[in-house]
Amino acid sequence: METTKLYYEDSLRTDFAAAVLECRPQGERWLAALDATCFYPEGGGQPADQGILGGARVLDVHEKDGVIWHTVDQPLEPGSRVEGKVDWARRLDLMQQHTGEHILSGLLHRMYGADNVGFHIGDEYVTMDTSIEITPDQLAAAEQAANEIVWRDEGVECAWPSPQELAAAEYRSKKALEGPVRLVTIPDADCCACCGTHLPRTGMVGQIKLLDWQRYKGGMRLTAVCGGRALADYRIKRAQLADAGALLSVPMNSVAPAAHRLAEENAALKQALAAAENQWFEALAAQVTPDQAPLVLAPGLSGESLRRLCLTLCQRTARPCAALSAGGMGLAYAVGQADGDVRGWSRSSTPPWTAGAVASPPLPWAACGRILRRWARFGPNSPIPNNTTRMDTVK
Ligand SMILES: [Zn+2]
Repeated sequence: METTKLYYEDSLRTDFAAAVLECRPQGERWLAALDATCFYPEGGGQPADQGILGGARVLDVHEKDGVIWHTVDQPLEPGSRVEGKVDWARRLDLMQQHTGEHILSGLLHRMYGADNVGFHIGDEYVTMDTSIEITPDQLAAAEQAANEIVWRDEGVECAWPSPQELAAAEYRSKKALEGPVRLVTIPDADCCACCGTHLPRTGMVGQIKLLDWQRYKGGMRLTAVCGGRALADYRIKRAQLADAGALLSVPMNSVAPAAHRLAEENAALKQALAAAENQWFEALAAQVTPDQAPLVLAPGLSGESLRRLCLTLCQRTARPCAALSAGGMGLAYAVGQADGDVRGWSRSSTPPWTAGAVASPPLPWAACGRILRRWARFGPNSPIPNNTTRMDTVK
């Protein structure tokens, strides 16, 4: 009992009728086999089709020993005839990604001798792994050539060559193949052994866009989108550029230089702020005498600033120092001691506190009282406020 694979006869066909040969429960679902189907099973890097079969939803499809098994959410009556309808939007999307991948991988092979050693169609992107490194300029040239194949609207030919024909053919294949081999040929771009569904013409791919590339296992991992996904990606990026442009008061095409200018200005402001803060911290520290364990409540400081304040205090006394700052939803603090180990002061799981100081992430307000109590407990004669300098208070 082998299923007739209608998707190989016509990859654009979505509607069909077939006889139910078998239907058996599996967990909360059922597995149904038909005498023929348009539903493509997962395989060759291409996810399974979904759609409707009889009154049931087809959630997954897989092949075993030539039989296509449809995972359905309702049982189908063996011996009955059912009508099937493949989710066309999903199939078209998958065929756009798959056919686009063939064109690009075929050209990378022809242009640079790169083999495709991995291929995955994800929910958002297609990833392809190549056997060798490819430069950004080379990738741009291949992307251009791939889109020219799309614009030429070449026919995509799928054929089952005889063993003799196959022996004489030059084609890409990821693994040693057994049994009949299906060759997918795209003129001037690719010839590849593949069991997936493909668009009949390259024009239906729409567009092939590389989004990202990085070195990966001696080659490259390429991230791409084709067809409708490329349009959706363009829409998202256009909207983000428009938003950023409005924020920066520049046209969309000037966002990058404007962002660079803003980053430079921000760095200069941070430097100026740090210099002013350092002067303030020095003035606060000047009030600390060597016998004091200062506790400074300073509003509006960042974690990094608190750390610098604490370090400045630690230069004035060998006793423990603490800097606290209220802001947002809670309290941030930095504690330290010039030659002491302050790890036991808090249940914080931040990295081990060194002899200097450490800045914590903001704590909830409840932690403020806990820290102050810990502080009060520190040393036999240093309860707050007797032997502790409260140099600034937060309202
Ligand atoms: Zn294929």
